[in-house]
Amino acid sequence: MSHHAGVVTLPADFVGRPGNLPRHCSRHGLRAVRERDFVLQSKVKIEGNRFTQVGRRGVLGMAERLDQHGKKVRTTDVKGWPLCRKCVRTRALWLAAASALFFGGLAAFAGSLIVSAIADGMPWLAGVAVAGFVLMPLAAVPFVLGSLPRLTRAQTSPDGASVVIENPSPAFTAELPSTR
Ligand SMILES: [Zn+2]
Repeated sequence: MSHHAGVVTLPADFVGRPGNLPRHCSRHGLRAVRERDFVLQSKVKIEGNRFTQVGRRGVLGMAERLDQHGKKVRTTDVKGWPLCRKCVRTRALWLAAASALFFGGLAAFAGSLIVSAIADGMPWLAGVAVAGFVLMPLAAVPFVLGSLPRLTRAQTSPDGASVVIENPSPAFTAELPSTR
């Protein structure tokens, strides 16, 4: 368990056992109101330039890259991660924004197609359909912002042996065994 320069590293088997993690959240340092189990992934850097590789080898190059990605991603099971009321509220807001964008976009897209099929003389409906179509993938942005890795500022180390937390709150760090 190391702890320097605002980065805390915890062994994967430590975070994988329930009851080991602090009772205060890593982000705000407030008392946890909820504990969550989830899976953290490691970040993967893929060799080679995306554009030249795709240009040169097309679909094959992309398939190779995906394969490389699958082999390099390491995951860690996290048991009972503390989330305070602020964490819970932030997550709920981002997820609500994501579903509003997605379902709003879907409704605008499908609705305008249905209306234009049964009614004439509304050329602007095509614009509504396009706007709806554009909104749907934008839902990915708030979805990522509300995701647990983003909220907890934690990720799996490249070798999969530990979980790395960036700038955890002092209350969180204080409850870890090595700093007690
Ligand atoms: Zn929090």
